[in-house]
Amino acid sequence: MTHFSANSPHARDIASVLHPQTHAGRHQELGPTIMTGADGIFVRDDAGNVFLDAGAGLWCASLGYNSERLAKVAYDAMRTLGYYQIFRHASHGPAIDLSEKLLELAPVPMSKVLLQCSGSEANDTAVKLVWYYWHAQGKPEKRKIFSRRGSYHGSTCVTISLTAKPDYHAGFGLPFDGFLHTDCPNYYRDALPGETEEAFSQRLADTLEAQIMAEDPETVAAFWCDPVQGGAGALPPPRGYFQKIQAVLKKYDVLMVADEVICGFGRTGAMWGCETYGMQPDMISCAKALSAAMQPVSAVLLNERIYQAVVRQSDKYGAFIHGYTYAGHPVCTSVALETLRIYEEMDLIDHIKSVEPVFLRELGALTDHPLVGDFSGVGLIGGLELVRDKATKENWPGEVGLGARIDQHARANGLILRIVGNRIAFSPPLIITAEEVRELARRMRATLDAVYAEVS
Ligand code: PLP
Repeated sequence: MTHFSANSPHARDIASVLHPQTHAGRHQELGPTIMTGADGIFVRDDAGNVFLDAGAGLWCASLGYNSERLAKVAYDAMRTLGYYQIFRHASHGPAIDLSEKLLELAPVPMSKVLLQCSGSEANDTAVKLVWYYWHAQGKPEKRKIFSRRGSYHGSTCVTISLTAKPDYHAGFGLPFDGFLHTDCPNYYRDALPGETEEAFSQRLADTLEAQIMAEDPETVAAFWCDPVQGGAGALPPPRGYFQKIQAVLKKYDVLMVADEVICGFGRTGAMWGCETYGMQPDMISCAKALSAAMQPVSAVLLNERIYQAVVRQSDKYGAFIHGYTYAGHPVCTSVALETLRIYEEMDLIDHIKSVEPVFLRELGALTDHPLVGDFSGVGLIGGLELVRDKATKENWPGEVGLGARIDQHARANGLILRIVGNRIAFSPPLIITAEEVRELARRMRATLDAVYAEVS
Protein backbone atom coordinates (compact mmCIF):
# COMPACT_ATOMS: atom_id res chain seq x y z
CA MET A 1 0.00 0.00 0.00
CA THR A 2 1.23 3.47 -0.81
CA HIS A 3 1.69 6.08 1.92
CA PHE A 4 0.98 8.91 -0.52
CA SER A 5 -2.34 10.68 -0.17
CA ALA A 6 -4.99 9.82 -2.74
CA ASN A 7 -4.95 12.10 -5.75
CA SER A 8 -1.41 13.32 -5.01
CA PRO A 9 0.75 13.27 -8.14
CA HIS A 10 2.74 10.49 -6.45
CA ALA A 11 -0.30 8.27 -5.94
CA ARG A 12 -1.53 9.00 -9.46
CA ASP A 13 1.89 8.15 -10.88
CA ILE A 14 1.93 4.85 -9.01
CA ALA A 15 -1.57 4.08 -10.25
CA SER A 16 -0.91 4.90 -13.88
CA VAL A 17 2.73 4.96 -15.01
CA LEU A 18 4.93 1.96 -15.79
CA HIS A 19 8.44 3.35 -15.45
CA PRO A 20 11.33 2.13 -17.62
CA GLN A 21 14.41 0.82 -15.81
CA THR A 22 12.56 0.86 -12.48
CA HIS A 23 11.75 -1.92 -9.99
CA ALA A 24 8.01 -2.10 -10.61
CA GLY A 25 7.04 -3.44 -7.18
CA ARG A 26 9.32 -1.17 -5.18
CA HIS A 27 8.01 1.83 -7.07
CA GLN A 28 4.67 1.35 -5.38
CA GLU A 29 6.36 1.93 -2.05
CA LEU A 30 8.98 4.51 -3.03
CA GLY A 31 6.93 6.49 -5.53
CA PRO A 32 8.40 8.84 -8.10
CA THR A 33 10.74 11.81 -7.82
CA ILE A 34 8.68 14.38 -9.65
CA MET A 35 10.65 17.04 -11.47
CA THR A 36 8.88 20.33 -11.87
CA GLY A 37 11.35 22.72 -13.40
CA ALA A 38 14.91 23.65 -14.11
CA ASP A 39 17.36 26.48 -14.14
CA GLY A 40 20.21 25.90 -16.59
CA ILE A 41 21.95 22.68 -15.58
CA PHE A 42 20.03 22.39 -12.27
CA VAL A 43 16.71 20.53 -12.00
CA ARG A 44 14.10 21.01 -9.27
CA ASP A 45 11.67 18.50 -7.78
CA ASP A 46 8.20 19.12 -6.38
CA ALA A 47 9.57 19.36 -2.84
CA GLY A 48 11.82 22.25 -3.91
CA ASN A 49 15.06 20.21 -3.88
CA VAL A 50 17.54 21.37 -6.49
CA PHE A 51 19.89 18.86 -8.10
CA LEU A 52 22.95 18.97 -10.26
CA ASP A 53 22.34 16.01 -12.53
CA ALA A 54 25.84 14.73 -13.30
CA GLY A 55 24.45 12.58 -16.10
CA ALA A 56 22.57 15.32 -17.98
CA GLY A 57 19.39 13.25 -17.67
CA LEU A 58 20.25 10.25 -19.82
CA TRP A 59 23.58 11.60 -21.18
CA CYS A 60 21.60 13.99 -23.31
CA ALA A 61 20.57 17.39 -21.91
CA SER A 62 23.60 19.08 -23.45
CA LEU A 63 22.23 22.63 -23.06
CA GLY A 64 20.59 22.11 -19.68
CA TYR A 65 16.88 21.69 -19.18
CA ASN A 66 15.18 24.73 -20.65
CA SER A 67 15.65 26.95 -23.68
CA GLU A 68 13.54 29.88 -24.83
CA ARG A 69 15.33 29.81 -28.15
CA LEU A 70 14.56 26.16 -28.95
CA ALA A 71 10.99 26.60 -27.67
CA LYS A 72 10.49 29.43 -30.13
CA VAL A 73 11.88 27.34 -32.99
CA ALA A 74 9.53 24.46 -32.13
CA TYR A 75 6.59 26.87 -31.90
CA ASP A 76 7.38 28.43 -35.27
CA ALA A 77 7.87 25.03 -36.88
CA MET A 78 4.48 23.85 -35.61
CA ARG A 79 2.81 26.91 -37.03
CA THR A 80 4.55 26.61 -40.40
CA LEU A 81 4.37 22.87 -41.04
CA GLY A 82 3.65 20.96 -37.85
CA TYR A 83 3.96 17.60 -39.56
CA TYR A 84 4.86 16.09 -42.83
CA GLN A 85 6.42 12.77 -43.70
CA ILE A 86 9.38 12.05 -45.95
CA PHE A 87 8.13 8.78 -47.52
CA ARG A 88 7.77 8.25 -51.26
CA HIS A 89 9.78 11.27 -52.48
CA ALA A 90 8.12 13.77 -50.09
CA SER A 91 10.42 16.17 -48.28
CA HIS A 92 10.58 19.48 -46.42
CA GLY A 93 13.13 22.15 -45.60
CA PRO A 94 14.13 21.17 -42.05
CA ALA A 95 14.84 17.53 -43.05
CA ILE A 96 16.98 18.69 -45.99
CA ASP A 97 18.83 21.34 -43.96
CA LEU A 98 19.58 18.99 -41.08
CA SER A 99 20.77 16.17 -43.36
CA GLU A 100 23.03 18.57 -45.22
CA LYS A 101 24.43 19.91 -41.95
CA LEU A 102 25.13 16.42 -40.60
CA LEU A 103 27.00 15.48 -43.78
CA GLU A 104 29.04 18.66 -43.44
CA LEU A 105 29.91 17.82 -39.82
CA ALA A 106 30.57 14.11 -40.37
CA PRO A 107 33.99 12.95 -39.14
CA VAL A 108 34.59 10.82 -42.25
CA PRO A 109 33.02 11.18 -45.72
CA MET A 110 29.38 10.15 -45.50
CA SER A 111 26.90 10.00 -48.35
CA LYS A 112 23.37 10.20 -46.93
CA VAL A 113 21.44 10.73 -43.71
CA LEU A 114 18.51 8.59 -42.61
CA LEU A 115 16.50 10.48 -40.00
CA GLN A 116 14.88 8.63 -37.11
CA CYS A 117 13.47 9.41 -33.67
CA SER A 118 15.69 7.75 -31.06
CA GLY A 119 19.10 6.20 -30.54
CA SER A 120 17.50 2.75 -30.46
CA GLU A 121 15.74 3.36 -33.77
CA ALA A 122 18.96 4.61 -35.34
CA ASN A 123 20.91 1.52 -34.28
CA ASP A 124 18.04 -0.82 -35.14
CA THR A 125 17.87 0.71 -38.62
CA ALA A 126 21.64 0.53 -39.02
CA VAL A 127 21.45 -3.23 -38.30
CA LYS A 128 18.90 -3.57 -41.11
CA LEU A 129 21.20 -1.57 -43.39
CA VAL A 130 24.13 -3.87 -42.56
CA TRP A 131 22.06 -6.90 -43.54
CA TYR A 132 20.68 -5.11 -46.61
CA TYR A 133 24.21 -4.23 -47.68
CA TRP A 134 25.47 -7.81 -47.50
CA HIS A 135 22.36 -9.09 -49.31
CA ALA A 136 23.12 -6.56 -52.06
CA GLN A 137 26.67 -7.95 -52.25
CA GLY A 138 25.25 -11.42 -52.81
CA LYS A 139 26.43 -12.50 -49.34
CA PRO A 140 23.26 -12.94 -47.28
CA GLU A 141 25.11 -15.36 -44.99
CA LYS A 142 27.36 -12.48 -43.81
CA ARG A 143 25.00 -11.61 -40.97
CA LYS A 144 26.54 -11.95 -37.53
CA ILE A 145 27.27 -8.80 -35.57
CA PHE A 146 29.86 -8.28 -32.84
CA SER A 147 29.59 -5.75 -30.02
CA ARG A 148 31.57 -5.35 -26.79
CA ARG A 149 30.58 -6.78 -23.41
CA GLY A 150 29.14 -4.05 -21.21
CA SER A 151 27.91 -1.98 -24.15
CA TYR A 152 24.42 -0.52 -24.43
CA HIS A 153 22.98 0.21 -27.86
CA GLY A 154 19.24 0.51 -27.26
CA SER A 155 16.11 -1.26 -26.07
CA THR A 156 14.38 -2.60 -29.19
CA CYS A 157 14.59 -6.38 -29.62
CA VAL A 158 17.52 -6.04 -32.01
CA THR A 159 19.42 -3.27 -30.24
CA ILE A 160 19.06 -5.01 -26.89
CA SER A 161 20.62 -8.01 -28.64
CA LEU A 162 23.52 -5.75 -29.63
CA THR A 163 23.60 -4.61 -26.03
CA ALA A 164 26.01 -6.95 -24.31
CA LYS A 165 24.60 -6.90 -20.79
CA PRO A 166 23.03 -10.16 -19.59
CA ASP A 167 20.77 -8.39 -17.06
CA TYR A 168 19.14 -6.55 -19.97
CA HIS A 169 18.32 -9.87 -21.67
CA ALA A 170 17.01 -11.80 -18.68
CA GLY A 171 13.33 -12.63 -18.83
CA PHE A 172 12.94 -11.63 -22.48
CA GLY A 173 14.45 -14.69 -24.15
CA LEU A 174 17.03 -12.45 -25.82
CA PRO A 175 19.53 -11.83 -27.38
CA PHE A 176 18.58 -13.05 -30.83
CA ASP A 177 20.96 -15.51 -32.44
CA GLY A 178 23.80 -14.02 -34.41
CA PHE A 179 24.62 -11.20 -31.98
CA LEU A 180 28.05 -12.01 -30.60
CA HIS A 181 30.02 -10.31 -27.90
CA THR A 182 33.71 -9.60 -27.54
CA ASP A 183 35.85 -8.11 -24.75
CA CYS A 184 35.09 -4.91 -22.92
CA PRO A 185 38.20 -2.72 -23.11
CA ASN A 186 38.55 -2.12 -19.35
CA TYR A 187 42.31 -1.71 -18.91
CA TYR A 188 42.07 -1.02 -15.18
CA ARG A 189 40.18 -4.25 -14.48
CA ASP A 190 41.45 -6.65 -17.10
CA ALA A 191 45.06 -5.80 -18.01
CA LEU A 192 47.60 -8.44 -17.09
CA PRO A 193 50.33 -7.45 -14.62
CA GLY A 194 52.81 -5.20 -16.43
CA GLU A 195 50.77 -5.13 -19.66
CA THR A 196 50.86 -1.73 -21.42
CA GLU A 197 47.70 -0.16 -22.79
CA GLU A 198 48.94 -0.82 -26.34
CA ALA A 199 49.64 -4.47 -25.54
CA PHE A 200 46.24 -4.81 -23.85
CA SER A 201 44.55 -3.32 -26.94
CA GLN A 202 46.46 -5.73 -29.17
CA ARG A 203 45.39 -8.68 -27.02
CA LEU A 204 41.73 -7.64 -27.36
CA ALA A 205 42.11 -7.21 -31.12
CA ASP A 206 43.71 -10.67 -31.32
CA THR A 207 40.80 -12.13 -29.37
CA LEU A 208 38.33 -10.50 -31.75
CA GLU A 209 40.26 -11.90 -34.70
CA ALA A 210 40.18 -15.38 -33.19
CA GLN A 211 36.41 -15.05 -32.61
CA ILE A 212 35.85 -13.95 -36.21
CA MET A 213 37.92 -16.88 -37.45
CA ALA A 214 36.03 -19.30 -35.22
CA GLU A 215 32.68 -18.03 -36.56
CA ASP A 216 33.96 -17.98 -40.20
CA PRO A 217 34.62 -14.44 -41.53
CA GLU A 218 32.16 -15.06 -44.36
CA THR A 219 29.38 -14.98 -41.74
CA VAL A 220 30.51 -11.87 -39.86
CA ALA A 221 28.82 -8.67 -41.05
CA ALA A 222 29.65 -5.83 -38.67
CA PHE A 223 31.24 -4.60 -35.46
CA TRP A 224 29.32 -2.14 -33.25
CA CYS A 225 31.03 0.24 -30.87
CA ASP A 226 30.54 3.51 -29.04
CA PRO A 227 33.78 5.54 -28.89
CA VAL A 228 33.56 5.89 -25.10
CA GLN A 229 31.65 2.89 -23.85
CA GLY A 230 28.70 4.42 -22.00
CA GLY A 231 27.02 1.20 -20.90
CA ALA A 232 30.23 0.02 -19.26
CA GLY A 233 30.19 3.12 -17.07
CA ALA A 234 31.67 5.79 -19.38
CA LEU A 235 34.81 3.86 -20.21
CA PRO A 236 37.27 5.47 -22.65
CA PRO A 237 39.23 3.02 -24.81
CA PRO A 238 42.83 2.15 -23.98
CA ARG A 239 45.59 3.56 -26.19
CA GLY A 240 45.67 2.13 -29.71
CA TYR A 241 42.43 0.21 -29.24
CA PHE A 242 40.43 1.36 -32.27
CA GLN A 243 43.44 1.28 -34.62
CA LYS A 244 44.07 -2.35 -33.77
CA ILE A 245 40.40 -3.33 -33.91
CA GLN A 246 39.95 -1.57 -37.26
CA ALA A 247 42.90 -3.46 -38.73
CA VAL A 248 41.12 -6.73 -37.92
CA LEU A 249 37.79 -5.52 -39.33
CA LYS A 250 39.48 -4.43 -42.54
CA LYS A 251 41.26 -7.76 -42.91
CA TYR A 252 37.97 -9.69 -42.84
CA ASP A 253 35.79 -7.11 -44.60
CA VAL A 254 33.63 -6.52 -41.55
CA LEU A 255 31.69 -3.23 -41.47
CA MET A 256 32.18 -0.85 -38.58
CA VAL A 257 29.25 1.04 -37.08
CA ALA A 258 30.05 3.81 -34.60
CA ASP A 259 27.34 4.43 -32.06
CA GLU A 260 27.78 8.15 -31.39
CA VAL A 261 24.51 8.40 -29.48
CA ILE A 262 26.33 9.55 -26.34
CA CYS A 263 29.61 10.83 -27.77
CA GLY A 264 28.34 12.77 -30.78
CA PHE A 265 28.30 16.60 -30.66
CA GLY A 266 31.18 17.44 -28.40
CA ARG A 267 31.10 15.02 -25.52
CA THR A 268 34.67 13.78 -26.01
CA GLY A 269 36.10 17.26 -26.71
CA ALA A 270 35.71 16.92 -30.48
CA MET A 271 32.49 17.03 -32.50
CA TRP A 272 32.55 13.23 -32.68
CA GLY A 273 34.13 10.47 -30.61
CA CYS A 274 35.29 9.09 -33.98
CA GLU A 275 37.55 12.13 -34.35
CA THR A 276 38.96 11.74 -30.86
CA TYR A 277 39.93 8.13 -31.53
CA GLY A 278 40.63 8.08 -35.29
CA MET A 279 37.67 5.79 -36.05
CA GLN A 280 36.60 5.32 -39.67
CA PRO A 281 33.13 3.80 -39.54
CA ASP A 282 30.90 2.86 -42.46
CA MET A 283 27.88 4.13 -40.56
CA ILE A 284 27.28 6.41 -37.60
CA SER A 285 24.22 6.52 -35.37
CA CYS A 286 23.58 9.69 -33.38
CA ALA A 287 20.81 11.14 -31.20
CA LYS A 288 20.60 12.79 -27.75
CA ALA A 289 22.73 15.98 -28.01
CA LEU A 290 21.68 16.25 -31.66
CA SER A 291 18.63 18.14 -30.39
CA ALA A 292 19.95 18.86 -26.88
CA ALA A 293 17.36 16.19 -25.97
CA MET A 294 14.58 18.74 -26.41
CA GLN A 295 12.96 16.78 -29.24
CA PRO A 296 13.16 13.07 -30.09
CA VAL A 297 15.35 12.93 -33.16
CA SER A 298 18.22 10.73 -34.31
CA ALA A 299 20.07 9.93 -37.48
CA VAL A 300 22.04 7.25 -39.27
CA LEU A 301 24.85 8.55 -41.45
CA LEU A 302 25.86 6.08 -44.14
CA ASN A 303 28.80 6.13 -46.50
CA GLU A 304 28.68 5.84 -50.27
CA ARG A 305 29.43 2.12 -50.18
CA ILE A 306 26.27 1.44 -48.15
CA TYR A 307 24.23 3.98 -50.09
CA GLN A 308 25.06 2.38 -53.44
CA ALA A 309 23.82 -0.95 -52.08
CA VAL A 310 20.53 0.75 -51.14
CA VAL A 311 20.24 2.08 -54.70
CA ARG A 312 20.84 -1.39 -56.16
CA GLN A 313 18.31 -2.99 -53.80
CA SER A 314 15.74 -0.29 -54.67
CA ASP A 315 16.04 -1.38 -58.30
CA LYS A 316 15.52 -4.95 -57.25
CA TYR A 317 12.64 -4.46 -54.76
CA GLY A 318 11.04 -1.29 -56.14
CA ALA A 319 11.95 0.96 -53.19
CA PHE A 320 13.92 1.13 -49.96
CA ILE A 321 11.14 -0.39 -47.90
CA HIS A 322 11.81 1.08 -44.47
CA GLY A 323 10.50 4.08 -42.54
CA TYR A 324 8.84 5.58 -39.47
CA THR A 325 5.90 7.99 -39.41
CA TYR A 326 7.89 10.55 -37.46
CA ALA A 327 11.20 10.16 -39.33
CA GLY A 328 12.50 13.62 -40.23
CA HIS A 329 9.63 15.26 -38.32
CA PRO A 330 9.75 18.98 -39.15
CA VAL A 331 9.49 20.15 -35.54
CA CYS A 332 12.22 17.77 -34.36
CA THR A 333 14.56 18.48 -37.25
CA SER A 334 14.05 22.25 -36.87
CA VAL A 335 15.00 22.03 -33.20
CA ALA A 336 18.03 19.84 -34.02
CA LEU A 337 19.20 22.30 -36.64
CA GLU A 338 18.89 25.20 -34.22
CA THR A 339 20.76 23.17 -31.58
CA LEU A 340 23.66 22.74 -34.00
CA ARG A 341 23.58 26.51 -34.68
CA ILE A 342 23.75 27.16 -30.94
CA TYR A 343 26.77 24.83 -30.67
CA GLU A 344 28.52 26.79 -33.40
CA GLU A 345 27.68 30.18 -31.93
CA MET A 346 28.86 29.26 -28.43
CA ASP A 347 31.93 27.52 -29.86
CA LEU A 348 30.96 24.36 -28.03
CA ILE A 349 34.16 22.45 -28.69
CA ASP A 350 36.31 25.33 -27.40
CA HIS A 351 34.15 25.52 -24.29
CA ILE A 352 34.46 21.78 -23.63
CA LYS A 353 38.20 21.89 -24.22
CA SER A 354 38.52 24.71 -21.69
CA VAL A 355 36.49 22.89 -19.00
CA GLU A 356 37.96 19.42 -19.71
CA PRO A 357 41.19 19.89 -17.67
CA VAL A 358 39.17 20.97 -14.61
CA PHE A 359 36.71 18.10 -15.09
CA LEU A 360 39.46 15.48 -15.38
CA ARG A 361 41.54 16.96 -12.54
CA GLU A 362 38.67 17.46 -10.06
CA LEU A 363 37.10 14.04 -10.60
CA GLY A 364 40.50 12.39 -10.98
CA ALA A 365 41.44 13.78 -7.55
CA LEU A 366 38.73 11.55 -6.04
CA THR A 367 41.00 8.55 -6.61
CA ASP A 368 42.55 9.43 -3.24
CA HIS A 369 39.25 8.36 -1.66
CA PRO A 370 39.20 4.88 -0.08
CA LEU A 371 36.13 3.88 -2.12
CA VAL A 372 37.64 4.83 -5.47
CA GLY A 373 40.01 2.58 -7.42
CA ASP A 374 40.35 4.51 -10.65
CA PHE A 375 39.07 7.38 -12.75
CA SER A 376 39.23 7.63 -16.52
CA GLY A 377 37.70 10.23 -18.78
CA VAL A 378 37.97 12.44 -21.84
CA GLY A 379 36.22 15.69 -22.74
CA LEU A 380 33.21 15.89 -20.44
CA ILE A 381 32.66 12.17 -19.94
CA GLY A 382 34.28 9.95 -17.39
CA GLY A 383 33.83 7.19 -14.85
CA LEU A 384 34.91 6.47 -11.31
CA GLU A 385 35.60 2.82 -10.60
CA LEU A 386 34.52 1.82 -7.08
CA VAL A 387 36.43 -0.80 -5.11
CA ARG A 388 36.45 -2.27 -1.64
CA ASP A 389 40.21 -2.83 -1.73
CA LYS A 390 42.43 -0.65 -3.89
CA ALA A 391 45.28 -3.19 -3.93
CA THR A 392 43.23 -6.22 -5.04
CA LYS A 393 40.48 -4.20 -6.84
CA GLU A 394 37.95 -6.35 -4.98
CA ASN A 395 34.35 -5.23 -5.42
CA TRP A 396 31.91 -4.52 -2.62
CA PRO A 397 29.59 -7.49 -2.11
CA GLY A 398 26.06 -6.99 -3.42
CA GLU A 399 24.48 -7.20 0.04
CA VAL A 400 26.20 -3.93 1.04
CA GLY A 401 23.98 -2.17 -1.49
CA LEU A 402 26.72 0.32 -2.32
CA GLY A 403 24.95 1.75 -5.37
CA ALA A 404 21.73 2.45 -3.47
CA ARG A 405 23.67 4.08 -0.65
CA ILE A 406 25.59 6.28 -3.05
CA ASP A 407 22.40 7.26 -4.84
CA GLN A 408 20.69 8.16 -1.57
CA HIS A 409 23.57 10.24 -0.19
CA ALA A 410 24.15 11.91 -3.54
CA ARG A 411 20.55 13.12 -3.59
CA ALA A 412 20.92 14.40 -0.03
CA ASN A 413 23.93 16.35 -1.36
CA GLY A 414 21.95 17.77 -4.29
CA LEU A 415 23.49 15.45 -6.84
CA ILE A 416 21.93 12.98 -9.27
CA LEU A 417 24.32 10.24 -10.35
CA ARG A 418 24.37 7.54 -12.95
CA ILE A 419 25.65 4.38 -11.29
CA VAL A 420 26.56 1.56 -13.70
CA GLY A 421 27.72 -1.55 -11.87
CA ASN A 422 30.99 -0.65 -10.15
CA ARG A 423 31.29 2.67 -11.93
CA ILE A 424 29.79 6.10 -11.53
CA ALA A 425 29.43 7.66 -14.96
CA PHE A 426 29.69 11.42 -15.37
CA SER A 427 28.35 13.22 -18.43
CA PRO A 428 27.12 16.61 -17.24
CA PRO A 429 25.40 19.10 -19.54
CA LEU A 430 27.98 20.34 -22.01
CA ILE A 431 27.40 23.95 -20.94
CA ILE A 432 28.70 23.22 -17.44
CA THR A 433 31.24 25.79 -16.23
CA ALA A 434 34.53 25.11 -14.45
CA GLU A 435 33.04 26.38 -11.20
CA GLU A 436 30.05 24.06 -11.55
CA VAL A 437 32.45 21.15 -12.17
CA ARG A 438 34.20 22.00 -8.90
CA GLU A 439 30.81 22.02 -7.18
CA LEU A 440 30.00 18.63 -8.72
CA ALA A 441 33.28 17.22 -7.39
CA ARG A 442 32.65 18.72 -3.93
CA ARG A 443 29.21 17.10 -3.76
CA MET A 444 30.68 13.82 -5.02
CA ARG A 445 33.34 13.80 -2.31
CA ALA A 446 30.76 14.59 0.39
CA THR A 447 28.68 11.68 -0.94
CA LEU A 448 31.61 9.26 -0.89
CA ASP A 449 32.56 10.37 2.65
CA ALA A 450 29.01 9.78 3.91
CA VAL A 451 28.84 6.33 2.29
CA TYR A 452 32.30 5.35 3.54
CA ALA A 453 31.32 6.31 7.08
CA GLU A 454 28.44 3.82 6.80
CA VAL A 455 30.20 0.88 5.23
CA SER A 456 33.74 0.99 6.67
N1 PLP B 1 23.33 3.92 -27.87
C1 PLP B 1 23.91 4.37 -26.75
C2 PLP B 1 25.40 4.37 -26.65
C3 PLP B 1 23.14 4.83 -25.69
O1 PLP B 1 23.70 5.23 -24.56
C4 PLP B 1 21.73 4.82 -25.82
C5 PLP B 1 20.88 5.30 -24.72
O2 PLP B 1 21.33 5.66 -23.65
C6 PLP B 1 21.16 4.34 -27.00
C7 PLP B 1 21.98 3.91 -28.01
C8 PLP B 1 19.68 4.28 -27.17
O3 PLP B 1 19.15 5.56 -27.34
P1 PLP B 1 17.60 5.85 -27.05
O4 PLP B 1 17.42 5.73 -25.58
O5 PLP B 1 17.41 7.25 -27.58
O6 PLP B 1 16.81 4.86 -27.80
